[in-house]
Amino acid sequence: LTDLRPFHFCPLCGTVLVPVEEDGHVRPTCPTGDFRQYGNPAAAANGIVMYDDRILLVQRGREPFAGLWALPGGFVEWDEEPAETATREVFEETGVRVRVTGRPILLLDTTDPRGNTVSANYPAEPLDPSDIDPLGGDDASAARWWPLEGIPVLAFENHTRAIESLGP
Ligand SMILES: [Zn+2]
Repeated sequence: LTDLRPFHFCPLCGTVLVPVEEDGHVRPTCPTGDFRQYGNPAAAANGIVMYDDRILLVQRGREPFAGLWALPGGFVEWDEEPAETATREVFEETGVRVRVTGRPILLLDTTDPRGNTVSANYPAEPLDPSDIDPLGGDDASAARWWPLEGIPVLAFENHTRAIESLGP
């Protein structure tokens, strides 16, 4: 999304917000001084889980982009380390337990109709190579390993960029 979806009322006290320009952005602001809407992207974390030249993807069970494939992942909880978000979401959506193997690839996504996100995309691998049969769960209607050279079009363009940036 190019523009922030502005709040009209203060979420803390219910007063009508007024537009205040700051740093080139219009930020809805409560005249009582208790709230300003900055419109920061939401934090998400995903797993780029690789095994034997294959990558673990999930088929989205919900809108937006229901039916399309994506990296397993989700939004970072308020008090959660992003790396924990990635491993938790991979397990919830695929049943595969993984560990992070490297630094995350950080990318902005502006294509999600719910609002912009910054995703931390963590390289990861299965904890137990004998237990990697994926099972779609939670938000995912299906999960499977895809050969790297034949992955489908993904729901979120930043997932595609994250995979590509890992290189051959
Ligand atoms: Zn207020």
